[in-house]
Amino acid sequence: MLIHPEHLAKQRGAWSLGAEVEVPAMRACSPITGFTLFIAEKPKAAKAIATALFGKPLECRRQGVPYWVAYDSGRLCIVASAAGHLFSLASLTNEYPIFEYEWVVRWKVERGSRHLRKFYSLLEWLSKFEPKNVINACDFDVEGSVIGYNVIRFILKRRDYFRMKFSSLTEDELARSYRNLLPPDANMVEAGLCRHELDWIWGINASRLLMDVYREALGRRRVLSLGRVQTPTLVEAINRFVADVVEVAEPKYTVSALLKREDASETFSGVHENSPFEYKHEASVAKSMILEAGVGIVKRVHIEKGERPPPPPFNLSDLQGEAYRLYGFSPYKTQKLAEKLYLEGLISYPRTESQRYPPDFPHAKVLERLKLLDYASEVGYVFKVNPGLKPREGKKMDPAHPAIYPTGKRPGRLSEDEKKVYDLVVRRYLASFMDPARITRLKALIAFKGQHVIAEGLNVEWRGWTRFYPLDIAERTIPLLREGDRVSVVKVIVREHWEKKKSRHTRASLLQWMESNSIGTESTRAPIIETLFSRGYLKEEKGGIRPTKTGLVVCDIASKYFSALTDASLTREFEEMLRRVRMGLERREDVLERAKNTVRALVEEAKSRFEDIKSTILLYEKTSAAKRCLVCELPATHGLCHIHEKALESLVESLNNLIRRTNLSREGLLSRIARNRKHGKAVREVATLILKGLIRLE
Ligand SMILES: [Zn+2]
Repeated sequence: MLIHPEHLAKQRGAWSLGAEVEVPAMRACSPITGFTLFIAEKPKAAKAIATALFGKPLECRRQGVPYWVAYDSGRLCIVASAAGHLFSLASLTNEYPIFEYEWVVRWKVERGSRHLRKFYSLLEWLSKFEPKNVINACDFDVEGSVIGYNVIRFILKRRDYFRMKFSSLTEDELARSYRNLLPPDANMVEAGLCRHELDWIWGINASRLLMDVYREALGRRRVLSLGRVQTPTLVEAINRFVADVVEVAEPKYTVSALLKREDASETFSGVHENSPFEYKHEASVAKSMILEAGVGIVKRVHIEKGERPPPPPFNLSDLQGEAYRLYGFSPYKTQKLAEKLYLEGLISYPRTESQRYPPDFPHAKVLERLKLLDYASEVGYVFKVNPGLKPREGKKMDPAHPAIYPTGKRPGRLSEDEKKVYDLVVRRYLASFMDPARITRLKALIAFKGQHVIAEGLNVEWRGWTRFYPLDIAERTIPLLREGDRVSVVKVIVREHWEKKKSRHTRASLLQWMESNSIGTESTRAPIIETLFSRGYLKEEKGGIRPTKTGLVVCDIASKYFSALTDASLTREFEEMLRRVRMGLERREDVLERAKNTVRALVEEAKSRFEDIKSTILLYEKTSAAKRCLVCELPATHGLCHIHEKALESLVESLNNLIRRTNLSREGLLSRIARNRKHGKAVREVATLILKGLIRLE
C-alpha cells in the first residue's frame, strides 16, 4: 500500500498546501505548526535520512542533541531521532508473579541511561509545535517499529503516523521509501511489544526469585538473571562443556603408504581401504602385508568431475560465521561492525535472515558503483560470467529485508576491522554472481595381494568464484594412474591418532545452535550470548567456552527448579507464536496469556522449593574445603564433583576396551591419557588422580 502524506491529507481535505505554512525567508531551527516530523532510530541515521531527502538540511541542536531542518516543496520537515529505546518496561508491584507492568521513561529506571533524557526532551519540545505528519523512520524491523511507536504514542501522544521502509541508508533507497510511505506497521509493532512483554514477564519473575533466594542464602545482593532465551542458551553451552571435558577419546590407526609407479620416480601417498583401524595390531598386520607384497596393481580408477557453487549472499548469521572463521571475530563484534557500516551507508541493513534479493533489485547499479571502488576486476568478471546478473541465492527469507549487500558508496576512513567486514560483504555479494569452481577427483584402488590401498587426488580445474572470495580448496596431486599399472611401495607407516566427538561451543557455534533451534532473532542472539559473559556465567578460553562457578549454580538451579526455562522447545514454541503475531495470525494478548500461565506455574513450582534452591546455592557457595572436589572447587559427594564423577565413569567404562585396542598396560594407558590433550580435561585430571593413587579403581 502506497500513501504519501500529501495525498492522504488531500483525500481528507485537511491539508491545503502553502496557505497554512508560510516559508520564512530565513532558515531557522524553530518548528512551525504543521510541519512534518521524521523520527529516526539514531542521530547518525537521522542525518543520513535528512541529507538523502533534502540535500543540505540545516543542522540544529538543542541541549547538544542534533536534529535537521529542511523544506520540501515549501513544507517544513524536521528529522529528529531517538537513541534506541527511550522507554522500557517496569513493574507496578512486587508481588509474585509480577504481571503488572507499564512502559516507563527509560532514563528514570535504568542506570547508565541518563543521556536519553536530552533526546526525550527534544522530542517533547518538538511535539509542542504540533507536527501535522509524523513519520516513523526507525530501522525497519520489530525493534525499530517499537522504538518509533513508543515515541509517537507517549511523547507525541498520537496514533496516526506513516512508516518508512528502507534497507539501506542510501539516497536512492531513502528517496524511494519517502515517495512510498506505508501506513502504520501494526503487526510489527504488536510483535515487537509482544516480544518485549514476553521476555520481561519471564525474566523479571525468574530473575527476581533467584536473586531473592540468593540474598536469603548468602545475606548479600547479587545481580543474576534468568531469561526465556538466555537460560536455554546457557544450559546448552554448559552441557556441551561437560560433554567435552568428560569424553574419553578413541584411538584410531591409519595405515598410509608412500608409493610410486614402477616406471616413474615421483612418489604419492595412499591409505589402506580399512583405515582408520580400531585396533593397533590389525593396523600392524595390514602394514606388514603391504610391505611383504612390495608391488601392487592398479585395479580400478575412478575420475569424478564436480562443482563447488558460490555461496549465497550473507544474512547476519552467515556473516558472523565467516567473520569468525576468517578473523576470529565474535558474533557480537561482527554485528556491531556491520551496524556501523550500515549507519555509514556502506552496506544494507545487516539484521536480516534473508539470503535472497527481490526480483527487481538494481544489481547493475550496485555493481557499476563497486566497479569505481577497488573492485573493478571482480565486477568485470561478474559481467563476463553472468551478464544476466542473476545471483545464486539461498533458501532463507526475511519479510523485512533482503540479504546484505554493499551499497557501492565510497567508504571514508574505516578501522582495520571495519575494512575486513566491509570487504567480506562486498566479496560475498560479488561471489554470488560468479561461476562455480570446478574440481576433478581421481580415485585409484591398488591391490597389494589381498590388501587394498586407495590413492586420492583432487585438482581444482577452474577456480571460479574462489579466485575472489577467501576460500581455499586444498589440492592433492597424484600421478595419472591407469588400470593395470604397477605400483611399488616406498614406505608404510601406521599413524595413531585419538578421535574425539564432542567439542565445546565457541561464541560462533553457540549462535549457530540458537539459529538452528529457532530461538532468539537475528538482532538478539549475539547480545544474549554477550549477556551470559557479562553476567559472569561463561568464559571463553582457548578450547572454547567454559562455565564459571556462578554459571554452574544458575544452570543447576534452572534445570532442577525452573524446568520450563531450560526447555529449548518451549522457547521455540513461543518464537513461533511471535512470528505468527508478526504475520497478524495471532493476537498479542493470547500469547501473553499463555506466557503468564507458564510463568505462573514456574513461579509456583520454584516458590514451593525455595528451601531446596537455597541449599543448592549454599552447597556451591559455602562448601567447606573438606567437601570440595579433589580436583576443582565444586561441591563433591564422594570426593568428586558431578563433572569429575562423570569423567571417572566414562574412563572406567572405556578402560578395558582401550587396553585391548592400544596393546598398552593399564598404567601405560593411564599415563598416556593423563598427558594427551585429545582427551577431555576432566578425564585427564581423573587419570592423574588414579596414577597418584588418590582414587582407587575397584
Ligand atoms: Zn570437580
